[in-house]
Amino acid sequence: MAKVLIIGAGGVGRVVTHKCAQMSDAFDEVYLASRTKSKCDAIASSIPGGRVRTAQIDADNASETAEFASRIGADLLVNVALPYQDLSLMDACLKAGIPYIDTANYEPPDVPKFEYKWQWAYRERFEKAGLTAVLGAGFDPGVTNMYCAYAQKHLFDEINYVDILDCNAGDHGLPFATNFNPEINIREITANGRYWESGKWIETEPLSMRCDFDYPEVGVKPSYLLYHEELESLCRNLKGLKRIRFWMTFSDKYLTHLRVLQNVGMTSIKPVKIKGVEIEPLEFLKAVLPDPGSLGPLTKGKTNIGCIFDGIKGGKRKKYYIYNVCVHEDCYAEVGSQAISYTTGVPAACAARMVAQKIWGAPGVWNMEELDPDPFLEAVARYGLPWKVLELDPENSYNLPL
Ligand code: NDP
Repeated sequence: MAKVLIIGAGGVGRVVTHKCAQMSDAFDEVYLASRTKSKCDAIASSIPGGRVRTAQIDADNASETAEFASRIGADLLVNVALPYQDLSLMDACLKAGIPYIDTANYEPPDVPKFEYKWQWAYRERFEKAGLTAVLGAGFDPGVTNMYCAYAQKHLFDEINYVDILDCNAGDHGLPFATNFNPEINIREITANGRYWESGKWIETEPLSMRCDFDYPEVGVKPSYLLYHEELESLCRNLKGLKRIRFWMTFSDKYLTHLRVLQNVGMTSIKPVKIKGVEIEPLEFLKAVLPDPGSLGPLTKGKTNIGCIFDGIKGGKRKKYYIYNVCVHEDCYAEVGSQAISYTTGVPAACAARMVAQKIWGAPGVWNMEELDPDPFLEAVARYGLPWKVLELDPENSYNLPL
């Protein structure tokens, strides 16, 4: 039995806390600590049985966090604060001598550039300390990496082409809102698109490549090519890979609002001075947009997130779509969060379970696809995210633009 320390009481933190509390065979104590303690208390009080303890913490302060983790005797730390806290929380884990799990890679607060290099630089320190760090244990990155690992282990001799598809067909009825942290979300979408082909990165103008993909159980949705962080590790870890891309759905309404906000400068992270106060427009925008946590009761519809694989098995060409469908209303009924937070929080809790039960435990810093996918995908299905493997006709089905 383990004591888990969860950092971050946002939409994802709520789900991780609910799920870890449900895993009473793995965790005997669940701590939730975040910048605003009242948010932790609100989550704790929504979980029956009084199993969750709460605390205020500044995750930017590694020493304070390490001291707190040691004081409560935490066995592992799950970081579902923001990507800006990744390095200080990895430092905190090294100081406290406990494993680390997160769901998004580090991004410096003043540079809109997310890359693994800063976290991969911790490999030797985690190895020397005999500790595991698991990076990107949400849905994408996270479960999508594990669909790749599963396909590589069970379905293919070599995977040549991967398209990761992230469809949110949910509707919250508001004119414009982001379904997770607006700052992170808008930084991701307004950046140039990028994909990997034949050993090279190819850049595209933001949202310039579109395909209308027919998502099982959801229908046809416009999907746009984006750069997404899991591409960086997957292009290194999949055998025989020739191309890997990432697509996300956006409605026309969403993109029109975003375009206007961009055109008037509201998505910029360059501070402007107003009445002597420096303000980042994107930070200001975040403050006036609906809190993603408030979208839970409003959002109706489904998500469909998965990967199309095209490759070779036993000398024959094979193609599969591996995916999960999640219903926003069901997630809200179960834990009080919409599907975007749910699909991130369930895998993070399952990764914590793998580490707590020492199913994963090799010292070092790992991307998800480097770990055994089978026990993890089994847990993910059991705790709310069942997945399907659909075999496709390699020549004539689900063809995306070349
Ligand atoms: P939220 O903004 O809703 O929550 C973040 C939480 O972290 C807030 O409670 C916030 O505190 C807390 N926090 C921020 N800074 C600090 C700090 N210095 N010290 C302590 N606590 C802090 O974000 P989400 O829940 O939507 O997302 C959480 C993480 O999950 C993000 O890193 C996001 O990128 C990632 N994510 C990953 C996905 C995946 O599939 N892999 C998908 C979606 C999200 P306060 O309440 O005071 O603001």
